[in-house]
Amino acid sequence: MKFDCIIIGGGISGLTAGIRCAKEGLHTAIISSGMSALHFSSGSIDVLGYLDNTVVYKPFEALDTLTGTIAQHPYTKCGKPLIIEALQFFKQECETQNVYLFDNENLNHFHVTALGTLKPTYFSQRSVFNEDVYNRFKRMKKIVIINFEGYRDFHPQLAAAQLSKHALFANCEIVAKSIEMPQIQNLSRHPHEFRSIDIARIFEDEEYVYKIADAIRLAADGADFVVIPAFMGIHNFNQIHNIIQSRTRLLVYEVPTLPPSILGLRIDNALKSRFAQLGGVFVAGDKVVRAEIKDDVVQAVYTANHPENPLEAKFYILSTGSFFSGGMVSEFDNMYEPVFKLKLHFEPQRNKWYSPQFFYSHSHPFLEYGVVTDENLRPYDSKNNIIQNLYCSGAILAHYNPIREGCGSGVAISTAYKAANQIVSLYKLMR
Ligand SMILES: Cc1cc2nc3c(=O)[nH]c(=O)nc-3n(C[C@H](O)[C@H](O)[C@H](O)COP(=O)(O)OP(=O)(O)OC[C@H]3O[C@@H](n4cnc5c(N)ncnc54)[C@H](O)[C@@H]3O)c2cc1C
Repeated sequence: MKFDCIIIGGGISGLTAGIRCAKEGLHTAIISSGMSALHFSSGSIDVLGYLDNTVVYKPFEALDTLTGTIAQHPYTKCGKPLIIEALQFFKQECETQNVYLFDNENLNHFHVTALGTLKPTYFSQRSVFNEDVYNRFKRMKKIVIINFEGYRDFHPQLAAAQLSKHALFANCEIVAKSIEMPQIQNLSRHPHEFRSIDIARIFEDEEYVYKIADAIRLAADGADFVVIPAFMGIHNFNQIHNIIQSRTRLLVYEVPTLPPSILGLRIDNALKSRFAQLGGVFVAGDKVVRAEIKDDVVQAVYTANHPENPLEAKFYILSTGSFFSGGMVSEFDNMYEPVFKLKLHFEPQRNKWYSPQFFYSHSHPFLEYGVVTDENLRPYDSKNNIIQNLYCSGAILAHYNPIREGCGSGVAISTAYKAANQIVSLYKLMR
């Protein structure tokens, strides 16, 4: 089969690149082997949350510092104007599928995590976003954190205890509660099925959503702010959030749960349906296992399910993620990129891959390992030659640390946009 562009990996980065290419008329395919980091993420888009171990309030100002000091950083290769354009593109494309992302323009906002910490981020869905979170929190007298009985992946007592330690809540009572909803319990055949997805599906049911809202109102007991695990629907979340807030007359806030993360799933669904709407071909559950390269140009890729059938394109984007998704593989004393065997940045000595303490403030060095590229995001092969028609985007890239810098999705979106932009320009020149 022949395409203009083949993207390997269907996480946030591959999908963003796919949408950009398909929107410009390129016959585009995404081949993706499985779930992506989106299924585990908060669903908020971090652009730059930390710099030099300090919380960043103004991400675009901090970007100037970062790009002025780390020449190899993917953000430096993108440049601030392109990053801003990419983020706006992403926001607009999500909106076409009714996923609305909110921001504070030049400022980060803070979302409450399942562990009760406050995390800086840039875009959030409405049920997570709070324009003026600091001032609002300061005025609050009572917060109720609610779980649903039987749901084992959220611990409101832990979240409440952690949140209470924050200076912002010094004058606020924070209470953990659990609501019993027999109608929901009856639907769970086995305790292990009582997961975020099962409960979110119940929220989608009109028969239950009003009863759930009433149970939340009762449990809130005079609170200004109610926190629940992110269950308010996978598809009709805007309506469900409206129903629950208007019926309870409360500010009801969602916290991301353990996987599968409903907030991340909403974005995943939106991007996939947008890609399909634009005519993109999404091949799910197949894995690219090898590539044919001639004179530094990729000729074709081959998948596990179709090992003898070449998939050909003029351009390719590698968005297979990091170790987490199999984009990079580590062995006892080695690391490699499995599809193209690209040149990597990593420390050969295993004992330098990680820091001695798990929660070390400088994070772990392996998070910065990945594929080395030129300024156009084209990678090098093992002989140090640039592969001319291959671009890399997202978590597979080296020289940034998504945890320490709080920039995972921002980098994934910006580099996808840059890679796709270059392909689109070359494609137009070729026509
Ligand atoms: C657990 C977790 C939570 C996170 N939370 C946040 C957050 O809250 N906010 C934020 O901004 N960032 C967060 N991040 C970081 C951010 O989500 C990632 O940096 C970003 O999602 C990476 O996207 P990606 O598309 O590059 O890779 P991935 O999301 O890893 O997707 C790669 C895809 O490629 C597929 N793939 C791999 N190899 C092949 C192959 N050979 N053939 C075909 N397909 C292949 C995989 O199955 C996967 O679907 C989180 C990351 C993790 C791991």
